Amino acid sequence: TREIHLASRPTGWPTHDHFRLVEAELPEPGPGQILVRNTVMSVDPYMCGRMNEGRSYIAPFAVDAALEGGAVGEVIESSDDAFAVGDMVVHDYGWREHAILDAARAKAIDTGRAPASAYLGVLGMTGLTAYTGLVRMAELKKDDIVFVSGAAGAVGSAVGQIARNLGASRVIGSAGSPEKVRYLLDELGFDAAFDYHDGPVVGQLAKHAPNGIDVYFDNVGGDHLEGALTHMRDFGRLALCGSIATYNSEKASAGPRNLGLSVVRRLKLQGFIVYDNEDLADEYRALATEWLADGRLTYKETCVDGLDNAVDALLNTFRGANLGKMLVRL
Ligand code: NDP
Repeated sequence: TREIHLASRPTGWPTHDHFRLVEAELPEPGPGQILVRNTVMSVDPYMCGRMNEGRSYIAPFAVDAALEGGAVGEVIESSDDAFAVGDMVVHDYGWREHAILDAARAKAIDTGRAPASAYLGVLGMTGLTAYTGLVRMAELKKDDIVFVSGAAGAVGSAVGQIARNLGASRVIGSAGSPEKVRYLLDELGFDAAFDYHDGPVVGQLAKHAPNGIDVYFDNVGGDHLEGALTHMRDFGRLALCGSIATYNSEKASAGPRNLGLSVVRRLKLQGFIVYDNEDLADEYRALATEWLADGRLTYKETCVDGLDNAVDALLNTFRGANLGKMLVRL
């Protein structure tokens, strides 16, 4: 079987040299373990953070060991009563064609309800991230005006639709290309959307959010966070989910320079990690399943084939190559 290992830790942008495709021998699954043939794996921007050492909410990847990440696959051997051969599961041992893991680390998925890949996106981690940020962190209320950055990505596309489904009065999104802007307006029902390459975010928001913003869901950081702060209404809430604009930069970002507005406007800024909010998963999945069935929640996937192309897929998410969730089919 094959796996992708971390070859060395990057400073700044990772390149192919920091990864290694390795042939590995598979041991037999021990008692309580299962062997899974991975069929689809998730590619996530946060992985670049785990390539470095330093204080974080999650342990860094080890050098010369396989990377980890969400994956779905089929159980092909089982030494645990919880799973039988043929069961489909989701787990955290992606970046390899086969995974041996404790059965307790796998969750069964119902591929009758949605395709397996959806459990890595809209019904999985990124969907729950969107819901958690809106409902728990930003305390979304009916008639709120919501702005989300990274809006055509996995988390952002769910944020816009969930906000609308929960009663937002206006949903505004930013993304990195005219095609993505069209997708937000024509397919996802955003009220307004703009390409952040077309001019400073702060100026584009003046046009698209003339009455201000109650909730900002931040996937990008930097100029997006600064621009949103300028337009926040009194008692606005900011769910700080990610800052992809700053992930691979070698120096700390300077902004936001207008953080003082959070005092004047009595804003709440709340950073969060989805893993602390697993208690919302059942509630979210029930809602998402209903919305998927009646068409009020849709999703796109950008799928790359084969483990050989997985590193490219990761590096390309930082160049905006994905519409919706970035995945690798194995
Ligand atoms: P996406 O599917 O949104 O993919 C990343 C997208 O980011 C790209 O497609 C690109 O789209 C955009 N992007 C890349 N560089 C920049 C830049 N410099 N400025 C603006 N946009 C940029 O990824 P996810 O939906 O998986 O993740 C979105 C965010 O949420 C990330 O910051 C991620 O780290 C974070 N996250 C946080 C979690 C948490 O628990 N807090 C959990 C999951 C994700 P474009 O073409 O629009 O530029």
